[in-house]
This record gives sequence, C-alpha cells and structure tokens, in this order.
Amino acid sequence: MAQAMYHNGNFWFDSLADIEPLQAPTAFPEQVDVAIVGAGFTGLWSAYYLKAKQPELVIGVFEANYVGFGASGRNGGWCMGTAEGISAMLESDAERSEGVTLMRAMQDTVDEVGRVCQAENIDCHYAKGGTLTIARYPHEVDAMKKAIDFKHSLGFDDDDFTWIPQEASSQRLAAEPNLGASYTKHCAAIHPGRLVRGLGERVRAKGVEIFEDTPVLRIEPGIVTTRRGQVRAGKILRATEGYTGSIAGQARTLMPLYTHMIATQPLDDDMWRDIGLARRETFDDGRHLTIYGQRTLDNRLAFGGCLEYYFGSKLLSALPQAHPNFAKVESAMKTMLPMLSNVKITHKWGGLFGVPRRGRPFVQFDRETGIGAAGGYVGEGVGASNLAARALVDLTLGRATALTELAWVRETPTTWPAEPLRWLGSRAVRLIGNQADASEAKTGRPSKWAGRVLDAVFGRAS
Ligand SMILES: Cc1cc2nc3c(=O)[nH]c(=O)nc-3n(C[C@H](O)[C@H](O)[C@H](O)COP(=O)(O)OP(=O)(O)OC[C@H]3O[C@@H](n4cnc5c(N)ncnc54)[C@H](O)[C@@H]3O)c2cc1C
Repeated sequence: MAQAMYHNGNFWFDSLADIEPLQAPTAFPEQVDVAIVGAGFTGLWSAYYLKAKQPELVIGVFEANYVGFGASGRNGGWCMGTAEGISAMLESDAERSEGVTLMRAMQDTVDEVGRVCQAENIDCHYAKGGTLTIARYPHEVDAMKKAIDFKHSLGFDDDDFTWIPQEASSQRLAAEPNLGASYTKHCAAIHPGRLVRGLGERVRAKGVEIFEDTPVLRIEPGIVTTRRGQVRAGKILRATEGYTGSIAGQARTLMPLYTHMIATQPLDDDMWRDIGLARRETFDDGRHLTIYGQRTLDNRLAFGGCLEYYFGSKLLSALPQAHPNFAKVESAMKTMLPMLSNVKITHKWGGLFGVPRRGRPFVQFDRETGIGAAGGYVGEGVGASNLAARALVDLTLGRATALTELAWVRETPTTWPAEPLRWLGSRAVRLIGNQADASEAKTGRPSKWAGRVLDAVFGRAS
C-alpha cells in the first residue's frame, strides 16, 4: 500500500516514514471467534486486551480503509485523564460518586497507555506534561478557580488539579492574554499516528488478522457481512465511532462532527523559549468552541478547532484544503500566540468524531446476540478508547470486574432525530458558540445565556 495515500495533509501520517505499511492477510476467513469492526484505537485496544487475556482466540479486525484512517490517526494527540460527560456527572448529586470513579479511572488510563507503549516498544512520543487551560478574562479566572476548589472538595488535590498564577502561567505558555491557568498533570501528548500504527503492528504480531479495505455493510448475530464476503463470528464488536452510520440500521446512532487541524513548520529553540511548553504540555483556553494545541516532538505546533456538520451526516473522503475553517484555526492560533504570525503552516487536515445524543461514551455487550460496541467519545477518545476497550473486553469475556461496573456500561445511546433537525441543531450550537466567544472577546465578560446553553449542551461544569 503506497505511503502517499495516508497523508492527505495529515501531519501525523506524513511523518511516519520509519513505519512500514501493514501487510494484508492472505486469505479471507470463513469464521473467527471475535470479529472487530474498525481499526482505530477502540478496535485495536480491544484486540490487544482480548489477546492478552485469552491468547487462543481467533480475532479478525475488519477495516473499511486502513489502520488509523479514522479519528485515531488524525487527532490532537491529547491522551487525557478525563472524558466527555464526566464534569457534568460531578455536578450531579445522583451521579457524582460514579463520576469520581470514572475520573480516577481515566487518570490511571493515561499511565496505562504509557505503560503498554513502553512494554510493547511503541514509540508514540509519549510525554506526560499535563494540560494548561489558559484564562483570558477575569470571569474565566473565577470560574476555573471555583472548578478546582469543587474538585478538591470531592477528594482530588493540588497534585491532580491546581491553579497556576499569571506570571508562572505566562512562563509555561506565553499566550495573549494569559491571566493564569488551570493545570492538571493527567494528560500526555502523543503522536497519534505512531500509536495507532504501532498498536496495529503489535496486535498483528500477536496473531490478530487485520483486513484493511474491507468495509462492513451489516452486523447480525453471528454474521458480519463485508464487501469481500460474509464471516461467521462468535462475538462481534463494533468500533466505528463517527462512521457508525455506514453500517445498516445505525444511521442515527452517532452524529459525525468534523474538526480541523493545522501544523506549523518546525520552530527553532529561540521561538520555543518565547512560547514555552517546555514539558510538551497540551493546552486550550476558556472559550466555548474548543481549541487545542500540542508541541510535537519535532518542535512544531499542532493546533485545532472549528466544528462542522454536513447535512444527512454525510461522510467526506477528505476535507478540501481550501476549507475556510483552516483559516479560522490559523487565525485563532496566531491571535493566541502572536510570535507565530510569520511562521509557515505546512499541514492542514481534519477528521470526524462521533457524538451520541446523551453526549457521553458508552460500552455495551449483549450476551444473547454476542454483539458489542464502544464509542461516543465526542472528540475526547484518545485515552477514553483505552478504558472503554478494557471494559468491553471484560464484558465480552463474561467477566465481572470493576471496569464492567463503570457508568459507561449502563449508557444506551438513543437515536438522533431525522433531518433537517440534526442539521438545524448543529447550526444552532455553532452559532450560539461563535456568538458567545465573540461577545466575551469584545467585552471580557461572560456571555450570559449563550454560555449557559452551551455548557448545558456539552455537559461542562461551571
Ligand atoms: C481532528 C481530531 C482531533 C481530535 N483530538 C483529540 C484529542 O486531542 N484528544 C482526544 O482524547 N480525542 C481527540 N479526538 C477524538 C479521538 O481521536 C477519537 O475519539 C478516537 O480516536 C476514536 O477512536 P475510535 O477507534 O473509536 O474511532 P476511529 O479512530 O474513528 O476509528 C473507526 C474506524 O472504523 C473504520 N470504519 C468505519 N466504518 C466502518 C465499516 N462500516 N466497516 C469497517 N470499518 C469501518 C474507520 O475507517 C476507522 O478506521 C480528535 C478527533 C479528531 C477528528
């Protein structure tokens, strides 16, 4: 398979020269013990832990494109110690205790990913430098300090979440403005392309067969129908995230949302002395429509933001390089870090993630049909896919463990409404988000109703 097909403007795949493309298995199987649909983090972590726990299992991974084609090979590379929906659980009296359990499990997951990478010799440029969330306005300072105090009241401490005052924060990241930062150590910057391809190689070496260029059309109990033929399978795990609508009957399970990324040319030491990020901390700020950045190991800045939904949950094969969102992402980066105003942008790419209607990840396995699934990470699945896969594996093997008790296991995704409602809803969220961010940038004060609506939609804590 030609390396060129992996690039499409994606910096992570463009920098994979030292990783060999996977070889296609020779014969298409009639039967496997476990069929996994999708070769992203969820599918490959599931294959990895299944093989680790039950090495004799015959496992086939069926992938429509190639290993890492989806969000797993395109993301911002934040392996986070939290996941979408957990903050909202902490706010709720009824869900707080399960939220704390999930948060702790996610914090441990950052270390678990690092541990496996070391044990399996997957060099994904893992650096656990934590995350800085920069406060730009006084109301963000107040809100972030309040959120840290709240987490401390739940048993987390300064070692988990802490406030970095203005001067020290500006030394960590010379963003403008920077009134201080909320910091957590529970995040590692990774090179997602190296992680997903490395995982693919390791599971293959352990005997898992990966069938690339093999779209799955339909999943029924005991049978996976692919474009290359049917496979009988004792158990079937769906790990297709934002692409789930490509499988018969799943059109409204997850909403595919696109986000856009750029990478700069490698920046010299003087520039990095000005910028900061000495520990390769990942960073964002207090705006409603999230931006995200990381310093890559080869000293570029990879930066993303801007959401897009296409009518009818349309899936694009590639995002056009002239898409106006790339200019918006570049402008957001250069406004935040003006010293970058003259640097060259060498890469522009995008990808899509899956949004469940309840806005939280799910892990399910039906013992009667033998069919399971995990996903719905809403753009925060680099670490969460590892935890979800470990829970999915225990469910698949019929083991009752602490992982199978996690709240995600009881989440059942409800379907999204038909069009044009989905499209109208996504437009409204984007409009309100842009308006809230623009008004806060202009006045320096919190946007009253718009901010609250968005925080409710995204399940964010104040
Ligand atoms: C630009 C971008 C930036 C992001 N940044 C971050 C970040 O910094 N931190 C973070 O935590 N999360 C981030 N995310 C989200 C994160 O990347 C995802 O949540 C995670 O990678 C999901 O992994 P997955 O394996 O479930 O799905 P995917 O990686 O999307 O994999 C699904 C796979 O299934 C295959 N597939 C789909 N349909 C079929 C079918 N019918 N038959 C066979 N195969 C099929 C696809 O080709 C794909 O390879 C980002 C996402 C994007 C797009």
